[in-house]
Amino acid sequence: MSKSAGHEVSTACPLDCPDSCSLSVSLSDGRVVALDGGHANPVTAGYICGKVRRFAERMYGPDRLLRPGFRLGPPGSGEFRWVSWDEALGRVAEAMREARDRWGAESVLPFCYGGSNGLLTQDTTDARLFRRFGASRLARTLCASTTGAASQSLYGKMPSVTYADYVHAKLIVVWGANPSASGIHLVPYIREAQRAGATLVVVDPRSTPLARLADLHLAVRPGSDVAVALAMHRHLFESGLADAAFLEQHATGAEQLRARASEWTFERAAGVAGVSAESLASLAGMYAAASPALIRCGWGLERNRNGGSAAAAILALPAVAGKFGVRGGGFTLSNSASWGITKSWVGADEAPARLVNMNHLGRMLTEPVDPPVKVLFVYNCNPLATVPHQNLVRKGLERDDLTTIVFDQVMTDTARYADIVLPATTFLEQYDFARAYGPISLQMVRPVVDAVGEARPNVEVFAELEARLGLDRPDEPRDELDMMLRVIDALPGGVGDAIRADVPAAPPFGTAPVQFVDVFPRTADGKVHLFPEELDRGAPMGLYVYQPDPATARHPLALISPSSEKAISSSLYELVRSTAALTLHPDDAHARAIAEGDTVRVFNDLGSVTCLAAVSPVVRPGTVALPKGLWSRHTLNGSTANALTPDTLSDLGAGACFNDARVQVERVAGAADGAAGEAAAPAPDKPAPDKVH
Ligand code: SF4
Repeated sequence: MSKSAGHEVSTACPLDCPDSCSLSVSLSDGRVVALDGGHANPVTAGYICGKVRRFAERMYGPDRLLRPGFRLGPPGSGEFRWVSWDEALGRVAEAMREARDRWGAESVLPFCYGGSNGLLTQDTTDARLFRRFGASRLARTLCASTTGAASQSLYGKMPSVTYADYVHAKLIVVWGANPSASGIHLVPYIREAQRAGATLVVVDPRSTPLARLADLHLAVRPGSDVAVALAMHRHLFESGLADAAFLEQHATGAEQLRARASEWTFERAAGVAGVSAESLASLAGMYAAASPALIRCGWGLERNRNGGSAAAAILALPAVAGKFGVRGGGFTLSNSASWGITKSWVGADEAPARLVNMNHLGRMLTEPVDPPVKVLFVYNCNPLATVPHQNLVRKGLERDDLTTIVFDQVMTDTARYADIVLPATTFLEQYDFARAYGPISLQMVRPVVDAVGEARPNVEVFAELEARLGLDRPDEPRDELDMMLRVIDALPGGVGDAIRADVPAAPPFGTAPVQFVDVFPRTADGKVHLFPEELDRGAPMGLYVYQPDPATARHPLALISPSSEKAISSSLYELVRSTAALTLHPDDAHARAIAEGDTVRVFNDLGSVTCLAAVSPVVRPGTVALPKGLWSRHTLNGSTANALTPDTLSDLGAGACFNDARVQVERVAGAADGAAGEAAAPAPDKPAPDKVH
């Protein structure tokens, strides 16, 4: 690998996105000057999203962390004294040791999620260190734990239909996903299928770009997807359209599912979902009749109290309707488990330790728990932006007796509260593996430039901490290259050989499996479990049981916080400098005398957000939207959507309930009032120091 000037080099994107693009990176004078799509991954076809096109701005921008630091000002100040790595890691090790000696090892809480999906940057030396140390363990539940619980129990995480096979479908249902913002490479395949005559249905509270191109758009109320799916099941069973032969041979639990679905007439489901009974009947009829019929089950539908039952009911549809066994038929959820990777390279047993649900970070930091959290070690994550109940998280980070360490690439909102910051390399400065979870691909990620400033890769920093704490073992990988080789050796089948030979890797069933031809449920009996007992026991009211909407007269509007085309969760949002807008339907705006561009306050009992208003029918009446992952700089009072989201848990998988936030909105000032509007805005939450308007 050469890092000389004026040429292009190839690598891949390991960020938290389904697609894992291959990349072509232009260099000049040892610096990244542009990123574009590479052609090594045929699915991503030489183009990339606008977010990663701007990645060089993150690498060399004013927010980049260049060296370790100790905080000088109060928590949240973002003022640091820059120190050496030796001094910083010495203090980190000392804090961990002191906490363990006085409070027990579980008083140290590692906190990481999604800043990179690479195989090296998470669950390598970090897992080794924290397991041997005996730290609390983290249940990573912000995303996909709810759909994952459903998928695991129903299908044992059977591999999904991949993008290339969408062109074969005659009916595509995109449910709770917006590929125009996240997983963009699916869109051209859907469009090609439409040109070939496929019918497109989108189920989403918002009119997404694909919804505007769909034959049918069901703008359902957030949290009501389970009712819609159960009404479809009822129609299939009651109309004799269920595939009895398939169910007999390949499934268990059909009768229990049928019983739970039996009360869901189209009329009842329509009342709950806020759509017409005719549109539900139309969807059910189209789905029953079409073949191949394909459902893209997204993650938007899981983020509520009914999310697990919704995911299970949706994933059960192709089994009940007999849609498997044909190319372009079945479902797509996540392909992250397709490779059968077990992470055996960690090399340390997962010892029993306290398991902390990451949705409850605020509670863990502010409520009496035994032992108390005394050291919070944040990496690959920006919890102040991404975790529910933001004001409680902030209160916890303000504790005098908490040592917070943030190991990140840029000065995030969370890093501003850190006692110790450590600068991390980006994926363009380190080795990694990019594993797609939409398509099936696994690619090597190569450093294309030297580390910026004194940034260091995760693998090496955690290995050094391990040594400082006396937890290292001889002959274990301690640097990136050794760990990479260990990972390659541990990859299943011939995958490691393909990576070594630099040829495209594939699991034994290839990269475009047909469900029930090439791949089958990975359950113990190889069958689809349509009514898993463990899910029925685990859900508060039982599996496939709808829990009512939490709206109240005081807080009648459903707030959703969907993915944006500008950032990957909170990553890269530092590059967006404009003030965020709450999108609300014209009917809801009119009822509150709110006009486009006004300053508004969105509030409930957990907090408030002051921002601008965007009035548009893109959201259904009764629902408002504020983007996921915003930073404090994007609003007028420093709070974002998570100041309003409850830290309650979904029915399955203990996942986040972002879309169960119920709010009220009021006008604060008119668009023409400008700065006066901002001054007039109430500030119930602590303003961030670096607001940019
Ligand atoms: S974020 Fe997704 S679309 Fe963008 S470059 Fe990475 S893999 Fe490609």
